[in-house]
Amino acid sequence: MIVIMKPHATMAEKAAIIARAEEHNCKIHLSDGSERTIIGVIGNVRPIDRDQVERMPGVERVVPILKPFKVASREFKPNNTIIPVGNYDIGGGELVIMAGPCAVESRSQILETAQAVKEAGAHMLRGGAFKPRSSPYSFQGLGEQGLKYLAEARELTGMPIITEVMEPALVPMICEYADILQIGARNMQNFALLHAVGKSHHPVMLKRGMSSLVEEWLMSAEYILSHGNTKVMMCERGIRTIETSTRFTFDVNAIPVLKQWTHLPVIADPSHGTGKWEFVAAIARAAVAAGADGLIIEVHPRPDEAMSDGVQSLKPERFARLVQEIKGIAAAIGMTVAETAVSA
Ligand code: PEP
Ligand code: MN
Repeated sequence: MIVIMKPHATMAEKAAIIARAEEHNCKIHLSDGSERTIIGVIGNVRPIDRDQVERMPGVERVVPILKPFKVASREFKPNNTIIPVGNYDIGGGELVIMAGPCAVESRSQILETAQAVKEAGAHMLRGGAFKPRSSPYSFQGLGEQGLKYLAEARELTGMPIITEVMEPALVPMICEYADILQIGARNMQNFALLHAVGKSHHPVMLKRGMSSLVEEWLMSAEYILSHGNTKVMMCERGIRTIETSTRFTFDVNAIPVLKQWTHLPVIADPSHGTGKWEFVAAIARAAVAAGADGLIIEVHPRPDEAMSDGVQSLKPERFARLVQEIKGIAAAIGMTVAETAVSA
C-alpha cells in the first residue's frame, strides 16, 4: 500500500506509520518530495488495517497497489523513471539509440563498428562479451578481453556501453567496464542474477523472456528494484508465438501496456524481435510510434562474416538511414531523438 502524508505531516507522524509497517515485517520505500512524503509499504500488507492507517495523524490517504509488482508499478510511482547514462537521460522524453554487433569479435571489429554507428547517429554502443548461445559449440564471446575492447571503443567515441552479464559472480567485474548491464532473455528469471544486479545499483536493461508474460517480466524487475536499484529499463525483444516466418514475434502491444503499468523506461529490440535484417527497420519504426523510449539494434560492418546473429544485423549504411527515418516517426508523436554527444 501507499500512504500519502499530509503536506505538513511531522517526523513523528511519519515514524508512526513506518513503525506500524515494520511491526508487520514490511519494507518501507520513502519518497520525501518537496510538498509531501509518500510512504510505500511493501510486503504482506494484508494484516495491516487500511482504515486504521488512514485515520492515523498526518495521513491524507492510503492507496492499495493492486498489481503483484509494487515498486515497479505506476500506482507506486506515477512519474516516469529517468535513468541518466553518460550525457543521456533514458526515459526523459528523448529517444536513445543503442547499436553495435551482437558479439564483440575482435578489437578491430568493435572499433570499426563503434565508429560507424556513432557516425550514423547512435548514442550508445552494444556488444556481447559473454554470450548466451543456444549451442555449447557456438562462439561464447571473448570474455574480459571483449570488455577491454568495448572500453577502448568508449574511449574512442565517447559512447556509453551496454553489455550482457550472465552470472552473479561476474557482476562486479562487468560493472567496472559497462555503463548498462544487460540481462538476456534466457536469464530473465535467473533470480540469483537479478539479486546480484539489484545490489550493484548499476543501470540494468532487463530483456523479456521469450515465453514470459508482461506481468512475469515486471516481477523480475521487482526483484532488482527490491534492492533499492531504481535504474531498471525493460527491453521487449520478441516472444515465441505460432508464427515461424520470423525468428520471434515482436510484441508491439507490450509497449503501451508497459507504459500504463510501470514508470520504467521501455527499450525495443527489433533485431531479436524479428531475427531478419529485412524487417528490422519496419519494426523499429513501429516501436518508436508505439512509445518506446529507446532502441537497441544489431549492426555489423560485414554481416555475412558475423560470428553471431549476422542474419539480423544491419549494415552501417542501412542503420544510418534508419536513424533518419526514426527522426520523422519521433517527430510525428511529439518526441525527438537525443542529440549525439561530442566525442570524448
Ligand atoms: C543479444 O542481445 O545479443 C541477446 C542474446 O539477446 P536476447 O537475450 O534477447 O536473446
Ligand atoms: Mn544477438
